[in-house]
Amino acid sequence: MRKKVVVISVIIVLFLSLPLFPENSSDLRIRAIKLIRSSIVADTHEDAPTTVYKGESITIRREKGQIDFPRMLEGGQNSPVFAIWIPNKLDNKDPEVYALKVMAATLKEIYKNEKLAEIAYSSDDIERIVKNGKIAITFSLENASVFHSVEYVNIFYKMGIRMASLTHMSSNYLCDSSTGKEKWSGLSPLGKEIIRRMNKVGMIVDVSHLSDKAVEDILSISSAPIIASHSCARALAEHPRNLSDKLIKAIASKGGLIDVNFASFYLDGTFIKRYKEITKRYKQLIKKLEERYPEKGKEYETKLEEIKKDQKKEYQNAKPDLKIVVKHIKYIKELVGIDHVGIGSDFEGIGNSAPRGLSDVTHLPDLVVEMIKAGFTDIEIKKILGLNFLRLYKEVEKKKTLDL
Ligand SMILES: [Zn+2]
Repeated sequence: MRKKVVVISVIIVLFLSLPLFPENSSDLRIRAIKLIRSSIVADTHEDAPTTVYKGESITIRREKGQIDFPRMLEGGQNSPVFAIWIPNKLDNKDPEVYALKVMAATLKEIYKNEKLAEIAYSSDDIERIVKNGKIAITFSLENASVFHSVEYVNIFYKMGIRMASLTHMSSNYLCDSSTGKEKWSGLSPLGKEIIRRMNKVGMIVDVSHLSDKAVEDILSISSAPIIASHSCARALAEHPRNLSDKLIKAIASKGGLIDVNFASFYLDGTFIKRYKEITKRYKQLIKKLEERYPEKGKEYETKLEEIKKDQKKEYQNAKPDLKIVVKHIKYIKELVGIDHVGIGSDFEGIGNSAPRGLSDVTHLPDLVVEMIKAGFTDIEIKKILGLNFLRLYKEVEKKKTLDL
């Protein structure tokens, strides 16, 4: 009799623990939107400043690109990091002048939207601004070739830069890039001094784009946790830009953060191969068309347009879907824990290479739906979306020894 009661009790408990109605896709989306609306949503790498500098406004909803204020509001993004990207070709051509121009153009755009967005100069600022229902924008530098000496770190901090990476696609006088020639076997002596000064003033050290050896050097120097603001896991996609398990573990063991990039080139190791094959095939088609219509003309133009349309469609189909972003997040979580992973989309810096279903910032709820489906809890999703970045930022601020 007693055994029967126990069995019945277990069945009742199991029944009550099941949702009465399983969530359908629209329920999941509603849940995702609610989660986003109650979270700090801090994408740690967006190239909007370059877009603005090129003359496009992010005040209005655009047809192209992935970010503007209207779409950020729709997707629920409230605390992005805007990267002032300096091309390596300017490393020896007064990069600070270029950085100032990009920053000025971006500031102008933000001031135009003062009711909507505000610049955040601290982690407290992010919380306050988001609480007030506005978008909190943090500024970072991608390629710190403007740091000719430690004094430049102070100057750029004073101007509002709160995060910086030492280089971009090529090696420079501060350090080696993951996609450049080896110059220093890691960091240059000045690069090391710059990292120490960044720690001192409370500027977050970003290691995305850096060579493995440069990341190791930084880990041995930095007194504060570091971030890879837009990098994926190399174990899932072989690319020098991605992080090895060894580096992910080393970054996490020092309290750091790895924020996953949304470019298919970095997310899916086989995409580059497919992309190159499509490009080659369509190049040949266009060549044949040119041979057929040496004078070009209207018929040529129509056919060329058709070819380009087909090519675009093929590119689109060759890309992975948004589940792959969650795959990288999950991989990093399983490797080092939920406190060390987030998102760094690289929007406006990756062309149209974001995965299918994640073409712009309005699709953030869809990404969160995939996280829910993959078994992430609400608090885990909140950490991924922004709490982890906020925690890291606060730890960097605590290590600060120079108040500017
Ligand atoms: Zn980048």
